[in-house]
Amino acid sequence: MNRFEGKVVVVTGSSRGIGGSIALAFAREGAQIVGVARSKQDDVKAEAGEKYLAVPFDLGGASNDKIASFIGDVLKQFGRIDVLINNAGIIRRAPAVEFSEADWNDVLRVNLTVPFILCQQAAKWWLKSGGRDRAAAEDRLRMINIASLLSFQGGILVPAYAASKHGIAGITKALANEWAKERINVNAVAPGYVETENTRPLREDPVRNSAILSRIPQGAWARPDAIAGACLYLASRDADYVNGCILNVDGGWLAR
Ligand code: NAP
Repeated sequence: MNRFEGKVVVVTGSSRGIGGSIALAFAREGAQIVGVARSKQDDVKAEAGEKYLAVPFDLGGASNDKIASFIGDVLKQFGRIDVLINNAGIIRRAPAVEFSEADWNDVLRVNLTVPFILCQQAAKWWLKSGGRDRAAAEDRLRMINIASLLSFQGGILVPAYAASKHGIAGITKALANEWAKERINVNAVAPGYVETENTRPLREDPVRNSAILSRIPQGAWARPDAIAGACLYLASRDADYVNGCILNVDGGWLAR
């Protein structure tokens, strides 16, 4: 299927893991991808082909103005953004009493503030260029934030991460409330435990690994493409009436 032919999809944190899988899934469906990460993204680009622009950009170290210029550059080059996927994320582990201010600020910046600024800039362009009055009735701006089980739970030794992911669920609903009437859909996907670099330490710790597996009703870690599939759905016309939703893709974890 080529459901996203002619569409421009911005994916942050596209160099590997969940973001890499999301970028490839949209590329396979015909989209032009703008992939953002600090590293070069050669592997993903090689697999995605010509319609993949790799933008080396440190979102955590960038000012709000730089982030606004990035959105401006995408619009200059491609004329539109159809889907914005805020996937880039970091995690730092320490007991709360030892948690440093620097770690707190880094995590909140990359996981919460930057997604907000990107949504804000994309919405500014959309509203200026017609918003709800756009001629093509099927045209919508879709924003998908990658949340977490820790949008609902506290986790272990990750207070800043839990705060940022609760926050991302909050802004998903707040922005949906404000922009739904403007033909903007703001949703989130909350992955359960996914096999990526991020979770390698957990998977390599036999005690944590078996505790996690025995708690997941489906009894297995998710593969990154399970999250990509949920993003394809939320970005598609099938989800036109879905707004402000946090879609759990967790093998049943939160139902337990
Ligand atoms: P990952 O393998 O560590 O990948 C993180 C991605 O974010 C990389 O592409 C990384 O690229 C990019 N990134 C990090 N800091 C960045 C920065 N300052 N500027 C630009 N890009 C940056 O993580 P993942 O497991 O795929 O997680 C992706 C998202 O899913 C995160 O938001 C995470 O919180 C969420 N999530 C993951 C799981 C899981 O089980 N894995 C579960 C729930 C939620 P560079 O290093 O090249 O910059």
